[in-house]
Amino acid sequence: MTGSDDKKNPFLMDKDKLEPSALDADEYDRQERARREAMADMEVQIIDSVRDTKSSPVEPVRLTGKDSFCFKCHKGVSCWNECCHDTDITLTPFDILRLSRRLDVKPADFLAIYTYPQMWNRAELPVAKLSMIDAEGKKNPCVFMDAEEGCTVYEDRPVACRYYPLGLASVKMMSDTQTNDFYFLVREKHCKGHEESDEQSVAEFRAGQGVEEYDTKNRGWMEILMKTVSWQILGGPYGQEIDPRTKKMFFMATTDVDAFRRFVFETRFLETYDVDPEFVEHIKTNDEMLLKLAFDWLKNVMFADDTFAMKESVLQKAVAKAREDAGAT
Ligand code: SF4
Ligand code: SF4
Repeated sequence: MTGSDDKKNPFLMDKDKLEPSALDADEYDRQERARREAMADMEVQIIDSVRDTKSSPVEPVRLTGKDSFCFKCHKGVSCWNECCHDTDITLTPFDILRLSRRLDVKPADFLAIYTYPQMWNRAELPVAKLSMIDAEGKKNPCVFMDAEEGCTVYEDRPVACRYYPLGLASVKMMSDTQTNDFYFLVREKHCKGHEESDEQSVAEFRAGQGVEEYDTKNRGWMEILMKTVSWQILGGPYGQEIDPRTKKMFFMATTDVDAFRRFVFETRFLETYDVDPEFVEHIKTNDEMLLKLAFDWLKNVMFADDTFAMKESVLQKAVAKAREDAGAT
């Protein structure tokens, strides 16, 4: 496979069009009113798992960190590597960071070589999926699978691979201030790990797989996906479909830190938004903090959340322009 080719990926942005835009004050008020009215009698309950299985063999049992289950995966199982073929793995923003660093490639090149873009089926937002390519022998192995060695990126494997055979679910009711996670077991026929007698709690399994850091660093992204799913009830945010430009912005900001850094530093972004100068210094080099900024900014742009603020002078200008357009004196 070759390096990046923007034409192949419909979600990559045209750099010339990367300019922050501001809602005018009236439009903002209208959208905020619509949002509050819609939310008033809506109960949000979203279940999510980032590794989809073809046969959906999910045990309908809600597990907490304290619950135990029997499972062990090791090289001696007859199904060794079965789960690394022909499966649907959504890469999270932190997965892409970790894997790009490991392979010493830029995120844009990583995306072009090892992934393909697809709409995340529950939210109509574009995400990067891990490529499973045809090869001789077994069907559609993961690009990182070696028949002898197993996973060649094991220390930096995606969070979906770490969680397996657990699924992660997040629920947020209207009365909740934050999302509540729980887990469920995925029991696929080919997976013999379930026949092993080793018992562990969900918390022990999660700790052993190192998922905590991933969940923390991907939280804002998960929240955007979840909120978008819940908005689908209304036909999209404010009852409107997410426009293609916002989808491209979402894809750029959540998959390619280099592109998002250029967007922040090479457009009027920092003239438009109120970002702490110390934080600005950090995001020049810190990718994780830049991701956090991306999530907060997207929440503001997509849902008018108060995670981000425009500069007072920009707001004043927008209000003045709105008044002028409305013919006020
Ligand atoms: S990244 Fe590793 S663990 Fe995940 S599917 Fe590929 S080979 Fe398997
Ligand atoms: S199918 Fe299950 S037991 Fe077999 S290698 Fe994959 S996770 Fe391990």
